[in-house]
Amino acid sequence: MRNLLNLRTASAPTTPVAALAALAAAVAVTAGIAAPVTEGPADAHDDAIVRTAQTVSYQGISVRIPAAGEGVQAAAESTSGEISLTVTRAADGAVVVKTDAHRHASKPAADRSVAQAAAPSTTRTDSAKTCTDAAYSLSGWKLNDFKWYYNPAGAPAAISTTAATAISAGTTALTSACGQKSLGLTPAYVGQTAATPQVGAAGNCTGNDGRNVIGWVAGSGRWLGMTCTYFKTVNGVKTATGTDTALNTQYKFFTSTANCSGAYDLQSVVLHERGHSLGLNHVDQTAHASAVMTPALSACTIGKRTLGLGDYSGLKSMYGTK
Ligand SMILES: [Zn+2]
Repeated sequence: MRNLLNLRTASAPTTPVAALAALAAAVAVTAGIAAPVTEGPADAHDDAIVRTAQTVSYQGISVRIPAAGEGVQAAAESTSGEISLTVTRAADGAVVVKTDAHRHASKPAADRSVAQAAAPSTTRTDSAKTCTDAAYSLSGWKLNDFKWYYNPAGAPAAISTTAATAISAGTTALTSACGQKSLGLTPAYVGQTAATPQVGAAGNCTGNDGRNVIGWVAGSGRWLGMTCTYFKTVNGVKTATGTDTALNTQYKFFTSTANCSGAYDLQSVVLHERGHSLGLNHVDQTAHASAVMTPALSACTIGKRTLGLGDYSGLKSMYGTK
């Protein structure tokens, strides 16, 4: 479900906000979004797109309005769905806002029983389609030459010694799937950095220093992982200029294959977020359940540590094969 709004910066400040609120409400209805889920902050008052002179906010995430010819996407993955907000500013100053919200009326089943620690499930949802369902969706940009850094500050104690390996594995998993040829992209780990990912605790994209950093943030929202990607449009071609991912320490993560209780697989979250950095958007949770780029992730499963054919095909359409 996507919402596309065209805003002119010359508009009177109060009118577009009211108009946007009405449009956002209409979108929620057409999307068939059920009553807000009961976890986390209430969303009922938060469904409108709110724009100030410098920022656009939607459902608890916000981005700074970029310079002319540039754009930014904030994509937040949660336990029950996902929200993304993309703001693009054309050369003439026109601001275009796209939102994409996927919700589940109830929490995933795995979320409900967290008392007993057990080995995580290795079963992929609708796994028979993993290497036959070729559906994908693109955000429109390409990220050339993906060099990335890791900032280990704030990593949860339980995984502080294993997180870097899991993050690397989640990134390397981008390169192939289903016995297909390797993709023509080579994410390169540069090393550790003290630079923090430019993602605020409130789920806001705070800026682009051009360095691609993944790290830990004590997020106040109900997102597991959040990726902010900046892009430029030149002659109609969108190129990413920086992408940062924050992992939310308010949730429990795991990296092993034993004793999971209410935790989320770090490698799976990273692979999904990397998909966003490289230009993939979401596919429908139900229709394409085996894909990595479905909006929601259940606790205690390692079934999505590798790309499905659709995820692979989307990347192949941009990056080709080696
Ligand atoms: Zn996502």
